[in-house]
Amino acid sequence: FAKNQSELPYAIFNEDMLAENMLRLELGSQLRHALDRDELTLLYQPMVQLCDGTTAGFEALLRWEHPEHGTVSPNMFIPIAESNGLIVEIGKWVLRKACQQAKLWQVEFGRPIMISVNVSVRQLSASGFVEAVNEALEETQLQPECLKLEVTESLLMQDPESTIELLHELRRIGLTIGIDDFGTGYSSLSYLHRMPLDILKVDRSFVDSMFDSDKNAALIRSILALAKSLELNVVAEGVETRAQLQRLQDLGCHFVQGFYFSHPLKPDAASEMINHHWL
Ligand code: C2E
Ligand code: MG
Ligand code: MG
Ligand code: MG
Repeated sequence: FAKNQSELPYAIFNEDMLAENMLRLELGSQLRHALDRDELTLLYQPMVQLCDGTTAGFEALLRWEHPEHGTVSPNMFIPIAESNGLIVEIGKWVLRKACQQAKLWQVEFGRPIMISVNVSVRQLSASGFVEAVNEALEETQLQPECLKLEVTESLLMQDPESTIELLHELRRIGLTIGIDDFGTGYSSLSYLHRMPLDILKVDRSFVDSMFDSDKNAALIRSILALAKSLELNVVAEGVETRAQLQRLQDLGCHFVQGFYFSHPLKPDAASEMINHHWL
């Protein structure tokens, strides 16, 4: 037993993991200053409307330009921000910044531009979330109809009853609500039916494996059928090839997003995509 105990740490913490844990600790403490030092930025990935090939809007994706480590992925620092609570402040910054950008585009292009913002568990469940949304809208004078929130499926099902109430409140304000990474969580169909949603975003993994087998293709088809019966529009994320695009078009998907069209872009480059015709 003693032998096992002494061996265990070595088995679990190899050098890579130790380095990664050190990095997480380091990033956690530096994240507190990242906001003040203006190290956070948003990139914008176009969302393409399949019925006419126009740009339907953009998804705002967060990056941390770290002075030593370069660009840090949100997959790395959002979980850290969630665990130390900074996500609330970061989330407010993201909302304000995204609304500001959408408003700038609206003024420049003379028509409303839809912006999607990702919202995480702790942010949504923290008190004051609705107020933060209202503040961002007021401060930037953006119409609520231009703001869409993306909430992951796993989050929605954590505490469905109170989430349903909150989503109703956000929708009353005029926001659009999308369920992100759909198919990877464990949605109860009865709850899904009661969720005030507008958009269902098919997880990238389904698009990825679409041609692997008949079963996988059937999976996407059934998600689309489910969306139709719930009267939701469908976005497919992670579209990387023309073949995927064509199949999704045939299946009746409404919107697509992915590297096949564009990577997430800096605001100036994104501006140039607003009047772009994709198909
Ligand atoms: P997500 O919301 O599901 O965003 C999609 C991710 O897939 C993005 O990664 C995007 O850059 C990437 N992607 C887009 N098209 C393709 C493609 O064709 N192929 C591949 N392989 N990837 C593609 P990113 O920007 O690294 O963001 C990762 C996740 O971090 C997001 O997943 C989202 O859950 C979270 N996140 C990003 N920004 C924010 C934010 O402002 N707040 C919160 N709470 N979470 C955020
Ligand atoms: Mg998203
Ligand atoms: Mg997603
Ligand atoms: Mg994701």
